[in-house]
Amino acid sequence: WKIAVTDYEFSNLEIEEKCLSEFNVKFIYGQCRSEDEVIDLAKDADGLLNQYAPIGRRAIQTLKKCKIISSYGVGVDAIDVTAATEKGIMVANVPDYGVEEVSNHALALLFSSARKIVHLNRKVKTGIWDFESSVPMYRYSEQTLGVLGYGRIPRSLVNKAKPFGFRILVYDPYVSEYEMRITGVEPASIEQIFTQSDYITIHVPLTAETQNLVNKENISKMKKNAVIVNTSRGPIIHEDDLIDALTNERIGGAYLDVLTEEPIHPDHPFLQLDNVILTPHIAWYSEQSMIELRVKAVQNIINVMNG
Ligand code: NAD
Repeated sequence: WKIAVTDYEFSNLEIEEKCLSEFNVKFIYGQCRSEDEVIDLAKDADGLLNQYAPIGRRAIQTLKKCKIISSYGVGVDAIDVTAATEKGIMVANVPDYGVEEVSNHALALLFSSARKIVHLNRKVKTGIWDFESSVPMYRYSEQTLGVLGYGRIPRSLVNKAKPFGFRILVYDPYVSEYEMRITGVEPASIEQIFTQSDYITIHVPLTAETQNLVNKENISKMKKNAVIVNTSRGPIIHEDDLIDALTNERIGGAYLDVLTEEPIHPDHPFLQLDNVILTPHIAWYSEQSMIELRVKAVQNIINVMNG
């Protein structure tokens, strides 16, 4: 097999080569930024490993021998899945890497918000060493954590948050109340999440149903000091509604790893708001999760090679 790595971002292909060492494969790789570059690189490849390179219908139609396009990640939005399916090409993703990292990152954002780490660091470095800068902070065991979505990542998060004593509310219409209760969380309506939580952490996938799920209407129900943490996908939050609430200090803050448009535009209002803390879509990452991602993306190719 000839395997085309369409947007090669790692320093080497050691992991991919090791996983495929028993097979007779040849790698070709490029840094494709356009469909034309994908076509040039991959037209006679048997399998593709792809991250962000655009693989639309036109590129797919030129792939003469391709049997699988394996995506490094959860999302397959760079690939025209319908066109691939029509041509008999499988499209595979890695839905479950970095669960430990994303849940840790969401908690790190939550705790840095709760203990005002970023804010206090800024104060101390500008010569302010006082108590007033810290006020108010609250005891976790008297706080409510609201969780949107109850898949792999929030279940991992909840297990780590429980020993701190939070009351934990979960909204996920596709998970039974029974399953929530036996895992030690309280089932809640979306209304209860927004009205009762001190921290709201978002873990729903981006779908037509979840786009703008966090909007003016439910933000207006939040407690004055409540904080939103988003490590899922940017468009789940209606950004203009959030900016409005943050600018007018109607809520405590937003700690965001994901945005509607990434990378952030240099004029984005979030960059001017002290109650917004940003990380660059990095929640998934550790050296270990990077290896997990690459091994699982290659495994998808091996599964197809093995029939
Ligand atoms: P998962 O697929 O295990 O679970 C998703 C859950 O969301 C399911 O339980 C489903 O029932 C629920 N859900 C679907 N629609 C809903 C709705 N309208 N309201 C409430 N719940 C709904 O997902 P996961 O592994 O827990 O990951 C969650 C999200 O995290 C992913 O979709 C992805 O967007 C994001 N993610 C981000 C990073 C990062 O680096 N920031 C990395 C990996 C994943």
